[in-house]
Amino acid sequence: MDPTAPHRLRPDSLVVALGRPEGVGSPVNVALTLTSTYRAGGEIGYARDGNTTWAALEEALGALEGGRCVAFASGMAATAAVLETLPAGARVVASQVAYHGAHVLMRERAANGRLQVQLVDVTDVEAARASCAGAALLWLESPMNPLLGIADIAALSAAAHAEAAAVLVDSTLATPLRQLPLELGADLVLHSATKFIGGHSDLLLGAVVARDPQRADALVHRRQTDGSTPGILEAFLALRGLRTLAVRLDRAEQSAGELARRLTSHPAVARVRYPGLPGDPGHDLAREQMSGFGAMLAFETIGDADAAERVCECVELITHATSLGGVETLLERRARYPAEQAAGTPPTLIRLSVGIENVEDLWNDLSQALASIPVTAPRSPRPRRAAPETPAP
Ligand code: PLP
Repeated sequence: MDPTAPHRLRPDSLVVALGRPEGVGSPVNVALTLTSTYRAGGEIGYARDGNTTWAALEEALGALEGGRCVAFASGMAATAAVLETLPAGARVVASQVAYHGAHVLMRERAANGRLQVQLVDVTDVEAARASCAGAALLWLESPMNPLLGIADIAALSAAAHAEAAAVLVDSTLATPLRQLPLELGADLVLHSATKFIGGHSDLLLGAVVARDPQRADALVHRRQTDGSTPGILEAFLALRGLRTLAVRLDRAEQSAGELARRLTSHPAVARVRYPGLPGDPGHDLAREQMSGFGAMLAFETIGDADAAERVCECVELITHATSLGGVETLLERRARYPAEQAAGTPPTLIRLSVGIENVEDLWNDLSQALASIPVTAPRSPRPRRAAPETPAP
């Protein structure tokens, strides 16, 4: 397929068609090229330089997003690579609501003097613009993990560019099928392909798509030098996951909308956050810049953190686990991580990654778990299990 003319096919066809070998007699799927070295004299000399299995995934993601894709070992490796391309002392302005692992990487670089970092409320475009003066990079996430806020990518990109800052959008929750940040003005798009792109909770992989080939070259250099290369089997599986992204996402998104609507009138639920709900603060913006509202939602229960934790422990079909974007529905109380608590995530907020199970079964499971919260009398607190200190997905 000619990836330079992706407009000829719609995105739900492209995810199936891109990144396949061509020519009479060639296999339909890219091969797993399991090698650490290559015979001398060719374009690739060593496995850190390149691999045809990654290249197929990169071709597909690059064409979908409209830029050049560089795949990494994980979303965190992709994040670290972007930060390492910035000159020493550069200033990064980042959304104060974002995946907390990205904040950890930024804070570490701020602590050792490598970068300066400022966190801002990106829903205030004017404040973000003022912060971008003298900055090298504005780091956004939309929808934001875990509060499901929406950043105005076009307005923020224009504001950052007016101050000569580049813009990165972590579009993991939207996927290339629901949002195209480069078209909206961003310079870089980041994905944790571990999530919706892989889609089966069986791999770790990251990707950055750059509008400017020089930025992509700088990222390839980082990957080669740091050795943050994607696993070959992981790249193969991510491409296989991409083939079904459109049907998985359609189904999961439809169920997410239905569950969000039902949760809003549940007596044990205090607040639902889903950009697809007409009353949600991000609804109008999401309608403008996304082609669907995605399969992630969050809700706050009534009562205390223990009540919300009990809901997570009572689900049966749904899995109580961190991460998101798989075919199986997952849920988790995010403030169980000290870093999320410190960032102001409400103590009873439960993040729900909706999968592809039958929506009535999902609702029945949520309903029986929510029944563990008495809607009239508060419960007495009980000790919670300690949560790990490393960034949880
Ligand atoms: N970006 C977002 C929005 C995430 O949710 C995560 C992980 O949860 C990452 C990046 C990091 O990705 P990975 O777990 O693949 O390193």
